[in-house]
Amino acid sequence: MSCPFCDPQIKDCVFFESKNFLAVYNIAPVLPGHSLVIPRDHIVSFIDLNPQQRTEFLETTTRAVRILLKAFHTDAFDLSIQEKPEAGQTIEHLHLHILPRLKGDMPNPGDWYPVIHTSDSMIMDDRNRKRLPEDDLRRIVDKLRNVASRPDLQEHVREV
Ligand SMILES: [Zn+2]
Repeated sequence: MSCPFCDPQIKDCVFFESKNFLAVYNIAPVLPGHSLVIPRDHIVSFIDLNPQQRTEFLETTTRAVRILLKAFHTDAFDLSIQEKPEAGQTIEHLHLHILPRLKGDMPNPGDWYPVIHTSDSMIMDDRNRKRLPEDDLRRIVDKLRNVASRPDLQEHVREV
Protein backbone atom coordinates (compact mmCIF):
# COMPACT_ATOMS: atom_id res chain seq x y z
CA MET A 1 0.00 0.00 0.00
CA SER A 2 1.81 3.11 -1.17
CA CYS A 3 -1.00 5.64 -0.80
CA PRO A 4 -0.22 7.77 2.28
CA PHE A 5 -3.91 8.64 2.72
CA CYS A 6 -4.82 4.93 2.95
CA ASP A 7 -2.07 4.27 5.52
CA PRO A 8 -3.67 3.40 8.91
CA GLN A 9 -1.22 5.87 10.52
CA ILE A 10 -3.26 8.72 9.04
CA LYS A 11 -5.54 8.40 12.09
CA ASP A 12 -2.92 10.21 14.18
CA CYS A 13 -3.64 13.33 12.14
CA VAL A 14 -7.46 13.10 12.10
CA PHE A 15 -9.20 15.89 14.02
CA PHE A 16 -12.73 15.46 12.67
CA GLU A 17 -14.49 12.62 10.87
CA SER A 18 -17.82 11.79 9.32
CA LYS A 19 -18.94 8.40 8.09
CA ASN A 20 -17.00 8.50 4.82
CA PHE A 21 -14.59 11.44 5.17
CA LEU A 22 -11.69 12.51 7.37
CA ALA A 23 -10.31 15.95 8.20
CA VAL A 24 -6.57 15.56 8.77
CA TYR A 25 -3.80 17.94 9.73
CA ASN A 26 -1.09 18.14 7.07
CA ILE A 27 2.16 16.56 8.30
CA ALA A 28 4.05 19.23 6.31
CA PRO A 29 1.90 22.37 6.42
CA VAL A 30 2.77 25.27 4.08
CA LEU A 31 1.10 27.60 6.60
CA PRO A 32 -0.14 27.01 10.17
CA GLY A 33 -3.48 25.21 10.04
CA HIS A 34 -2.95 23.65 6.60
CA SER A 35 -5.27 20.62 6.61
CA LEU A 36 -6.89 18.19 4.19
CA VAL A 37 -10.31 16.60 3.80
CA ILE A 38 -10.08 13.12 2.26
CA PRO A 39 -12.44 10.19 1.65
CA ARG A 40 -11.77 7.16 3.89
CA ASP A 41 -11.81 4.96 0.80
CA HIS A 42 -9.31 5.29 -2.01
CA ILE A 43 -11.42 7.50 -4.26
CA VAL A 44 -9.27 9.25 -6.85
CA SER A 45 -11.55 11.81 -8.44
CA PHE A 46 -13.81 14.55 -7.16
CA ILE A 47 -16.12 14.01 -10.11
CA ASP A 48 -16.51 10.30 -9.22
CA LEU A 49 -18.28 11.12 -5.95
CA ASN A 50 -21.97 10.29 -6.03
CA PRO A 51 -24.42 13.03 -5.00
CA GLN A 52 -24.67 11.76 -1.41
CA GLN A 53 -20.88 11.56 -1.05
CA ARG A 54 -20.56 15.06 -2.53
CA THR A 55 -22.96 16.41 0.07
CA GLU A 56 -21.13 14.68 2.93
CA PHE A 57 -17.77 15.84 1.54
CA LEU A 58 -18.88 19.48 1.52
CA GLU A 59 -20.49 19.26 4.94
CA THR A 60 -17.38 17.65 6.40
CA THR A 61 -15.28 20.37 4.76
CA THR A 62 -17.50 23.07 6.26
CA ARG A 63 -17.10 21.58 9.72
CA ALA A 64 -13.33 21.29 9.28
CA VAL A 65 -13.11 24.92 8.13
CA ARG A 66 -15.07 26.11 11.16
CA ILE A 67 -12.82 24.13 13.52
CA LEU A 68 -9.67 25.52 11.90
CA LEU A 69 -10.92 29.12 11.91
CA LYS A 70 -11.73 28.82 15.60
CA ALA A 71 -8.41 27.19 16.45
CA PHE A 72 -6.31 29.61 14.41
CA HIS A 73 -8.29 32.72 15.35
CA THR A 74 -9.27 33.95 11.92
CA ASP A 75 -12.20 34.10 9.51
CA ALA A 76 -10.05 33.91 6.35
CA PHE A 77 -9.22 30.74 4.44
CA ASP A 78 -8.37 29.21 1.06
CA LEU A 79 -9.72 25.93 -0.35
CA SER A 80 -8.14 23.98 -3.21
CA ILE A 81 -8.36 20.64 -5.01
CA GLN A 82 -5.70 19.65 -7.54
CA GLU A 83 -6.84 16.85 -9.80
CA LYS A 84 -4.35 15.09 -12.12
CA PRO A 85 -0.61 15.81 -12.33
CA GLU A 86 -1.25 18.55 -14.89
CA ALA A 87 -3.03 20.41 -12.10
CA GLY A 88 -0.33 19.77 -9.53
CA GLN A 89 -1.69 16.62 -7.87
CA THR A 90 1.01 14.32 -6.51
CA ILE A 91 -1.07 11.83 -4.48
CA GLU A 92 -3.82 10.05 -6.41
CA HIS A 93 -6.36 10.07 -3.60
CA LEU A 94 -8.89 12.88 -3.59
CA HIS A 95 -7.93 15.59 -1.11
CA LEU A 96 -9.11 19.13 -0.52
CA HIS A 97 -6.66 21.59 1.00
CA ILE A 98 -7.82 24.04 3.66
CA LEU A 99 -5.54 26.94 4.58
CA PRO A 100 -6.61 29.29 7.35
CA ARG A 101 -5.15 32.70 6.47
CA LEU A 102 -3.89 35.58 8.55
CA LYS A 103 -3.07 39.12 7.52
CA GLY A 104 0.57 39.21 6.39
CA ASP A 105 1.15 35.44 6.48
CA MET A 106 2.53 35.70 2.93
CA PRO A 107 3.95 38.79 1.19
CA ASN A 108 0.82 38.87 -1.00
CA PRO A 109 -2.40 37.07 -0.04
CA GLY A 110 -2.56 35.27 -3.41
CA ASP A 111 0.97 33.86 -3.16
CA TRP A 112 -0.21 30.46 -1.92
CA TYR A 113 -1.66 29.68 -5.33
CA PRO A 114 1.51 30.04 -7.41
CA VAL A 115 3.31 28.23 -4.59
CA ILE A 116 1.38 25.06 -5.36
CA HIS A 117 1.22 25.47 -9.12
CA THR A 118 4.61 26.73 -10.24
CA SER A 119 7.18 24.84 -8.22
CA ASP A 120 7.45 21.06 -7.88
CA SER A 121 9.49 21.42 -4.73
CA MET A 122 6.76 23.46 -3.10
CA ILE A 123 3.72 21.44 -4.14
CA MET A 124 1.50 21.04 -1.11
CA ASP A 125 1.52 17.25 -1.31
CA ASP A 126 5.27 16.95 -1.73
CA ARG A 127 6.42 14.23 0.67
CA ASN A 128 9.90 15.75 0.79
CA ARG A 129 8.71 19.05 2.18
CA LYS A 130 9.80 19.80 5.71
CA ARG A 131 7.66 17.84 8.18
CA LEU A 132 6.38 19.02 11.53
CA PRO A 133 8.15 17.47 14.52
CA GLU A 134 6.03 14.63 16.04
CA ASP A 135 5.36 16.58 19.25
CA ASP A 136 4.12 19.66 17.42
CA LEU A 137 1.86 17.55 15.24
CA ARG A 138 0.36 15.77 18.26
CA ARG A 139 -0.17 19.04 20.11
CA ILE A 140 -1.98 20.68 17.18
CA VAL A 141 -4.17 17.62 16.44
CA ASP A 142 -5.13 17.41 20.14
CA LYS A 143 -6.07 21.07 20.14
CA LEU A 144 -8.19 20.69 17.00
CA ARG A 145 -9.96 17.64 18.44
CA ASN A 146 -10.77 19.70 21.53
CA VAL A 147 -12.14 22.55 19.45
CA ALA A 148 -14.17 20.04 17.37
CA SER A 149 -15.86 18.76 20.53
CA ARG A 150 -17.06 22.22 21.65
CA PRO A 151 -20.84 22.54 21.81
CA ASP A 152 -20.90 25.59 19.51
CA LEU A 153 -19.24 23.52 16.78
CA GLN A 154 -21.53 20.50 17.14
CA GLU A 155 -23.44 20.78 13.91
CA HIS A 156 -25.04 17.78 12.29
CA VAL A 157 -23.16 16.34 9.33
CA ARG A 158 -25.44 14.44 7.02
CA GLU A 159 -24.01 11.03 6.24
CA VAL A 160 -24.62 8.75 3.28
ZN1 LIG B 1 -5.59 6.13 -0.95
